[in-house]
Amino acid sequence: MDRHHCTCFIVPSKVLRHLAEKSEGQDRLDLLDCALQSEYLRGHRSARGMSLFANVAGEKRRTVYDCRNTRTTPPKGSLVRGEGSAPVADTAVNQAYDASGTTYDFYSKVLGRNSIDNRGMRLDSYVHYGKKFNNAFWDGAEMVYGDGDNKLFRGFTQALDVVAHELTHGVTQFSTPGGLDYIDQSGALNESFSDVFGSIVKQWSLKQGVAKADWLIGAGLMAQPTWKALRSMKAPGNKAATWPGDDQPSTMDGFVVGGDVHTNSGIPNHAFYLAAMALGGNSWDAAARIWYGALPHLHANATFVDAANATISVAAGLGKTQKAAVTKAWKSVKVLK
Ligand SMILES: [Zn+2]
Repeated sequence: MDRHHCTCFIVPSKVLRHLAEKSEGQDRLDLLDCALQSEYLRGHRSARGMSLFANVAGEKRRTVYDCRNTRTTPPKGSLVRGEGSAPVADTAVNQAYDASGTTYDFYSKVLGRNSIDNRGMRLDSYVHYGKKFNNAFWDGAEMVYGDGDNKLFRGFTQALDVVAHELTHGVTQFSTPGGLDYIDQSGALNESFSDVFGSIVKQWSLKQGVAKADWLIGAGLMAQPTWKALRSMKAPGNKAATWPGDDQPSTMDGFVVGGDVHTNSGIPNHAFYLAAMALGGNSWDAAARIWYGALPHLHANATFVDAANATISVAAGLGKTQKAAVTKAWKSVKVLK
């Protein structure tokens, strides 16, 4: 059976899955691959918001594909690990599998969310994308990770916050009516929500309270020994805390008109950090609920002020202290006067 051109559609995928469960090794993967091929259209319908076949039971389903250093467009990579199968020899594969599982568990256990689309969407990861590819991305339906060139970056699957960041782009896409346009302030907010939940998932995984957390994004990802992380939510733009290319402003004084979404995201990132610090305890309690609760109140062209008002409104529902903490945070970064 050619796993790349499998035409097993006549057999229901659930049968293939059943057979796969009873098989081992390559046979198991071949069968699972066929099942996944049959489910591909369904998966993509779901990813595009046409969730006709939602998995309402809340079952965790992860798959990891190997692009084998090609820039193949998903879903053409080879399936190398599926849900419940044993770790493989390839570290990147296991890291993508584990980190997507931790992210799924966070959204499920802490926020009661049924996967990325809240309808049980399968978490597809593509590793070894391209040659020495220095990035990771969410393409609207799946996560894709490069290996890094080991001069600038190491492999992108090793940082849990990066994996959670990518998956959170999906959460934002499905939670905000129309998504958050990936440009201008809405784009910076889109990036910021991903950093916020990337950091929260890491803290949750490490059981770190807000005072202990490093508030860094992508710590350990940089190949240069003196480069510490991609971004800092505690100190956006502090190159000593991050790396020489860090151009993030921490307040509206440094807002870059027409700037990159990864630049201006420093402002809402810092607002979240300040709010979480003021609320104290664990970021995955009040602070996470407030930011998560704000997503459905935003829209495609939402501004920083819209995000401030939405989070303040959700915080007000929790109490006066929470409302005051969140309001003060947005004032500190000069989004509100
Ligand atoms: Zn991003």
